Amino acid sequence: MEYNIALLRGDGIGPEIVDSAVAVLEKTASKFGHSFRFTPYLIGGSAIDAVGVPLPPETVEGCLASDSVLLGAVGGPKWDSLPGDKRPEKALLGIREALGLYTNLRPAKLCPALRAASPLKDSVIGSGFDLMIVRELTGGIYFGERGFRKGKYGQEAFDTEAYSVTEIERIGRVAFETAMKRRRRVCSVDKANVLESSRLWRKTMHALAEEYPGVQYSDMFVDNAAMQLIRAPSQFDVIVTSNMFGDILSDEASQLTGSIGMLPSASLGSTKRGMYEPIHGSAPDIAGTGRANPAATILSAAMMLRWSFGLSGEADCIEAAVDKVLEAGFRTADLMGADSGTPLTCNEFTNMIIEVL
Ligand code: NAD
Repeated sequence: MEYNIALLRGDGIGPEIVDSAVAVLEKTASKFGHSFRFTPYLIGGSAIDAVGVPLPPETVEGCLASDSVLLGAVGGPKWDSLPGDKRPEKALLGIREALGLYTNLRPAKLCPALRAASPLKDSVIGSGFDLMIVRELTGGIYFGERGFRKGKYGQEAFDTEAYSVTEIERIGRVAFETAMKRRRRVCSVDKANVLESSRLWRKTMHALAEEYPGVQYSDMFVDNAAMQLIRAPSQFDVIVTSNMFGDILSDEASQLTGSIGMLPSASLGSTKRGMYEPIHGSAPDIAGTGRANPAATILSAAMMLRWSFGLSGEADCIEAAVDKVLEAGFRTADLMGADSGTPLTCNEFTNMIIEVL
């Protein structure tokens, strides 16, 4: 099969890590007899430099015409003084909106070889954890009514959290379907003891749970969820939650795994096309030094194969290759911790993965 992949390399370490993922995808294609056609488009600061805007129309058109999108990261000090709507990061919201990506999947899995890099105690980690946060991406307080008004204490600012049954059902279904392919447990996180929008969220999730009798369903208040994630992360399989709660909890969960350079993500909508990217930013402090860890982007590419192209065997193979390289003791600089020895560069680490593949 031939698949068309739009490449958004972006800024900072973006080009290095995307090129690593492309090399791994090319190896996977030759191993399994597929053809991946890559088309690069401008995004972020490099797009501002080249054509004056962070998200050129050709980029949106190219992504819409592709089978899927692989993104590095955008942003950097060079563009930090630009006004909010002209900054590289603005392109992220724009491309998500243009592609109708309302789901954000963020897996947080402890790689056994990186156990010592987790900030959790060995006794808390136990036999490890493997959870998936399903975050609603285009609704809630980040997109609600906002502004300034005169309040009880004078001038005040406000943001509004609003969720419709349709939006809750849509993300809920993604969570239940995801759980069906995993360990069949869904925990819905809300603040239904305080918020009206959370009460509708909970009521809607309960109704949906009836349709999935094979999935073990539970609710949890967000404050408790923040605590449980560091107290006993292995209790979770799939966590489904709103845009803001998901934003916060997924960053918390990512840290449990040890390094930001390891974690992939997928943004999905109602078509097979998704956008896949590492959860980290453009790391301008290490751009061009060869110190970037490409694993998060390579694992994002594996998610693309699984979620957008239905190539689960190929995705498993890439994930296993990353695990094997780590198990053999190879590390990029961010994973070294107190270990002595010389870290591998981004290219050397990528080549090890390709060799294992
Ligand atoms: P960051 O994630 O870029 O970097 C945080 C720290 O982690 C840095 O020390 C960096 O060197 C390190 N790091 C990140 N990824 C790494 C990797 N793959 N390998 C090794 N080390 C890695 O976050 P930041 O410094 O807050 O932001 C830098 C820029 O990235 C900003 O302009 C910010 O707006 C942007 N940003 C973009 C995205 C995105 O494109 N999705 C996300 C977050 C931040």
